[in-house]
Amino acid sequence: MRHALITGVTGQDGAYLSKLLLESGYRVYGLDRRTSTPTTERLHYLEVADRVVLLDGDVTDQGSMVRALEGAEPDEVYNLAAQSFVGSSWRQPVLTTEVNAVGTVNVLEAIRLVNPKIRFYQASTSEMFGLTAEPVQSETSPFHPRSPYAIAKLCAHWTTINYRESYGMFACAGILFNHESPVRGIEFVSRKITDGVARVKHGLATDLRMGNLQAKRDWGFSGDYVRAMRLMLQADDPREYVVATGRAVTVEEFCRIAFAYAGLDWREYVRVDPQIARPADVPALCGNAAKVKAELGWQPTTTLEDLIAMMVEADLKRVRDERC
Ligand code: NDP
Ligand code: GDP
Repeated sequence: MRHALITGVTGQDGAYLSKLLLESGYRVYGLDRRTSTPTTERLHYLEVADRVVLLDGDVTDQGSMVRALEGAEPDEVYNLAAQSFVGSSWRQPVLTTEVNAVGTVNVLEAIRLVNPKIRFYQASTSEMFGLTAEPVQSETSPFHPRSPYAIAKLCAHWTTINYRESYGMFACAGILFNHESPVRGIEFVSRKITDGVARVKHGLATDLRMGNLQAKRDWGFSGDYVRAMRLMLQADDPREYVVATGRAVTVEEFCRIAFAYAGLDWREYVRVDPQIARPADVPALCGNAAKVKAELGWQPTTTLEDLIAMMVEADLKRVRDERC
């Protein structure tokens, strides 16, 4: 039986990846940092909490990584742990750099010391392209990061490549574009909108205050994207891959579809609040996933409309249940 260790197991992708790996017959271990209240809500939502073995640790504490690797004896490590919200990265730049950049060095260094044959996946991001001059981004597009988050992730990305080139480790990075689900963090724009729709629909709110409505993103479904992570670690060679749908729309269009799904007109509820705008935004991202499709056979299965419907449905139910 293959063993996998997931850092960031309590996050959105950690939960979907746990489910996928368990269904594929893996024994799944998750790195779980100490918090004052439990953080396993997403694992419970996807009904995998009782099958994931949690190991105490934090990616900023290398000793705890070594112990987790010794405990799990993994064949594969998926490094998903991060301070993952771009907006917070200006308010907590040092912590973001420590977790996202130094944390990745810690994980790779621990693997090198404990068992360099372990296959390693790094959660890289389209945010690394940032202020890109190319309308559609692929593995060969230049990087221009625009936030402390993206800069730290770029450090982790190059560290991953450097461990492969320096030590021959099977270390690869997926450059994933935005991907969402009903368990996406509530501060991200997709979930903020679908939660807002549910609150308006149930009479708990009369408006939704938003930042830059003209920003464009290529949004996919987390459940599809974790399949690409696993495929990368089963490949013959470790490589970088862009994972995306190839369709980008504005935040405004996302609002329109989400409100319309609940029978509402977004223009009656969405208000632009200049205070929400970021110090430096990424205006538009759209990915070309031709390489992962051709080499690993990956395809997304969920359209943007299906994704938004899934998220609005889940938030309508949650808000209704909370009211009862
Ligand atoms: P989440 O924010 O949902 O999850 C982040 C996870 O990291 C949580 O489990 C969190 O634990 C954990 N974590 C944070 N700090 C530490 C630490 N110091 N030590 C150990 N664990 C820590 O992110 P997603 O699931 O959405 O994303 C997964 C990864 O993919 C992230 O690295 C993200 O940056 C990256 N990514 C995500 C994209 C997306 O659109 N979702 C796009 C591209 C890349 P806790 O529950 O305790 O807070
Ligand atoms: P990101 O692509 O990782 O930064 O994901 P987000 O979901 O946080 O943001 C996507 C885009 O939506 C960015 O360009 C934001 O500036 C824009 N946006 C507009 N209004 C909001 C808002 O109210 N909250 C968030 N999180 N983003 C917003």
